[in-house]
Amino acid sequence: MPVPRRTRLVALAPVVAALIALGCVSAPGGEAGSGGEQRPAPTATRTTAAGEDLEGTDTPQEFMEDVGDAERVAEAYWKAQFKKSGLEFQPISRLIAYEQEGEVDCGGQGLGLNNAAYCSAGDFIAYDVNWAFAAFRQIGDAFIFYLLGHEYAHAIQLRLRIQKEFTIEQELQADCMAGAYIGDTERQGSLKLDDGDLEELAAGLEAVGDEPGQPWFAEGAHGSAKQRTRAFDNGYQRSLEPCGVS
Ligand SMILES: [Zn+2]
Repeated sequence: MPVPRRTRLVALAPVVAALIALGCVSAPGGEAGSGGEQRPAPTATRTTAAGEDLEGTDTPQEFMEDVGDAERVAEAYWKAQFKKSGLEFQPISRLIAYEQEGEVDCGGQGLGLNNAAYCSAGDFIAYDVNWAFAAFRQIGDAFIFYLLGHEYAHAIQLRLRIQKEFTIEQELQADCMAGAYIGDTERQGSLKLDDGDLEELAAGLEAVGDEPGQPWFAEGAHGSAKQRTRAFDNGYQRSLEPCGVS
């Protein structure tokens, strides 16, 4: 497999915490998921990001290339993991970019803006392309790999019939699995992280943490920034073992 090009160094723009609202439609039990958590709309937009000195490297084309790379890398990673366990692997059915609220239907429910989700009803990952592009420009390309890795992990949970009691457990496991996919792929040499990518990932995780005070058992709780960072880092450093997948 060609080594995805990872040569850009994207300056870390100050992260506006409210910019990112990573939510998931994850209903690994097989039923259609409901929308991810509700968060305020982003306070920063592409216009803001565009005003920063990005040396013209963060184009929509590069964004789409990274999204494609991230999906391919995740698919290859899980295919290999399944093979190791003697399991048949089925990739997700589709990766869908959307721009309008409700444009993409997941089990009878329209997906909202400022979000990315795995929809178990259609076995697809969908993301608000304007939101993801803004995050790509503000946080960096590594965030896209994390985002796809996290949502792909929900598809894997469904395939492995992993259904945790609480949403937060399901979410933190997906963060750990995303860390394992990035860390392992890097260790295998098929993904190269640049200087700064880890800082981007840290900033991304910081930004997607729940607001302080979010009850851990709440519907849609994903974990605090600290919990999410720890979960991701466990997988990143130590592969799938700490994720409790196998
Ligand atoms: Zn999730």
